[in-house]
Amino acid sequence: MRIVADHGRCEGHGLCADVAPEVYDLDDEAVVVVRHETVPEGLRRPAENGARVCPVAALRVEP
Ligand code: SF4
Repeated sequence: MRIVADHGRCEGHGLCADVAPEVYDLDDEAVVVVRHETVPEGLRRPAENGARVCPVAALRVEP
């Protein structure tokens, strides 16, 4: 699976990184960074959870 981040939409509140710091980070300008271009199998659940909590739907999960 892949996570596609809409950087223009991200408002930098960091909920994704709070929920799943092993998958998401914020850069110096408080824009989301997805740590893995392709999410390893073992991080699937946290990746999905982090995407789900984004209040502006900036994270899309792709199979
Ligand atoms: S939860 Fe959404 S808006 Fe907040 S940092 Fe993550 S991607 Fe950006």
